[in-house]
Amino acid sequence: MTTLYEPAYAKLNLTLDVLGKREDGYHDLKSVMQTISLRDDIEIDIETGKPWVLRCTNEAVPTDERNLAWKAAKVYLDAMNKDPNGLEIRITKRIPSEAGLGGGSADAAAVLRALNKYCGNPLSILALAELGAQVGSDVPFCTLCGTAMVEGRGERLRKLPNMPDCVFVVCKPDFSVSTPVLYNEIDSCAIAKRPDNTAMESALLAGDFGKVAENLLNVFDPIVTQKHLELNYIKSIFNSYGAVGYQMTGSGSAVFAIVPDFEFAAVICNMLRDNYPQVFIAKPV
Ligand code: ATP
Repeated sequence: MTTLYEPAYAKLNLTLDVLGKREDGYHDLKSVMQTISLRDDIEIDIETGKPWVLRCTNEAVPTDERNLAWKAAKVYLDAMNKDPNGLEIRITKRIPSEAGLGGGSADAAAVLRALNKYCGNPLSILALAELGAQVGSDVPFCTLCGTAMVEGRGERLRKLPNMPDCVFVVCKPDFSVSTPVLYNEIDSCAIAKRPDNTAMESALLAGDFGKVAENLLNVFDPIVTQKHLELNYIKSIFNSYGAVGYQMTGSGSAVFAIVPDFEFAAVICNMLRDNYPQVFIAKPV
């Protein structure tokens, strides 16, 4: 039996634009995404000689073939025509679920990377990301990691210059947002302000984290904030204690701030922790 270890990094949407609904019912997106050091840990035992098992430290997460990590293992092994002779996947969960942090996708991507390494890296990282699109929309980016422009349903990736050195504070409030309901809403309203992805790319190229912060924009943020005013409370704490930029990630409900260093991050965490136990400090990875 062999055990594989792989980190599964959460993602943030630095920009997120919804371009329109496609004929297949999905939406075309354009988003600058960033992986961060907030992570789950994946361990995979291969050749257990027993039926497949998945264990997760978070009891709310499914532990059968509905789990994206399980799906990813199936997709990879089918594509490579390999039989692992038994598999046990263990997930140490730290990424909050239903947060817009891509927790399930991160786990799936980590499984793809781990199995590909185990097989001697037959697939390039981009080929692996392409395979990930069969598992979920955010899986291709989570496979690539770093900073990237993500388009289509999430399957078109272009690597961007790395995010300049900075610290993120991520806060997940207690409520969750239904992603399908949110997409329906965005279809029926005019989007007032869209991100300037060219300006975001230039900011990344210049390594100017102030300009990156200035260009944060997620079209879902105003829709969710309007309904959940406590997001304004969290943002006001971010704003009062030194954040240079902040917004919701993905379809929420987590919000994040960009701060210059750990001292600012620690103060913000202390201010939020009593009301929000799910508050994290992270770096870009
Ligand atoms: P995204 O940003 O991609 O929309 P999210 O942060 O909103 O993702 P996830 O953590 O991916 O949310 O969880 C969404 C749902 O996916 C959960 O309710 C859970 O039932 C299911 N799920 C499947 N596999 C996993 C996994 N490995 N980890 C967490 N959730 C999973």
